Amino acid sequence: MRILILSDIHANLIALETVLRNAGEFDRIWCLGDIVGYGPEPNACVERLRAYDLVCVAGNHDWAVLDKLDLEEFNPDARRAAIWTRDQLAGQNLDWLHSLPEYLPAQADKFTLIHGSPRYPIWEYVLTPAVARINFDFFDTQICLMGHTHVPVLYRYHRDEHTATAEPLPEDIPVALDSERMMINPGSVGQPRDGDARAAFILLDLDTMTLTHHRVEYNILSTQLKMGQANLPMRLITRLSYGW
Ligand SMILES: [Zn+2]
Repeated sequence: MRILILSDIHANLIALETVLRNAGEFDRIWCLGDIVGYGPEPNACVERLRAYDLVCVAGNHDWAVLDKLDLEEFNPDARRAAIWTRDQLAGQNLDWLHSLPEYLPAQADKFTLIHGSPRYPIWEYVLTPAVARINFDFFDTQICLMGHTHVPVLYRYHRDEHTATAEPLPEDIPVALDSERMMINPGSVGQPRDGDARAAFILLDLDTMTLTHHRVEYNILSTQLKMGQANLPMRLITRLSYGW
């Protein structure tokens, strides 16, 4: 079985469609949250995802449109985008976002799915090996898949020293998921922040127990034009060009 792992789509339908077209064959999607927020097509992104065999956790931006989070915790641009998104979303799509769990343990036995971190699923950013190390104590499976930072990365746990190390996810090169514990972030489909503007995703092959990180160029300008038409904040529009 092959699983497409997506995170932080952020209502960027053009990026999502490009990933779906370029991912090759897959049987199921695992989505790590932040389907909406920032981007111009929240309804279409929710509906496109739901057409697949899908499991999905909630992200902080999904919660923001549901009033499950205080918008004061967002910066002004993100807050404005969240309010715009809330006004756009159809009732059934809001209901679906509302139904998303914070945490999906034991997918295919070995994988925990989460948006932020195992310790604080909605909000914590795992940006350093020190934070990753602490979080290895907060999930039971071999692998944790997470999003939220919009930066692809692999953290390995070293049991004997109780330490964690970070390494970049190689592009297009399979990573073996042997017996080591790992925390892995696929990067963002709709708003990358690692200085690479291309959409990011992972394909997981459960038969060979390997996963492969991919990047794909999409029509950034088309998304930016739609954001402009929706009068979304300029800083959110320009950052897509830089992948930051
Ligand atoms: Zn996000």
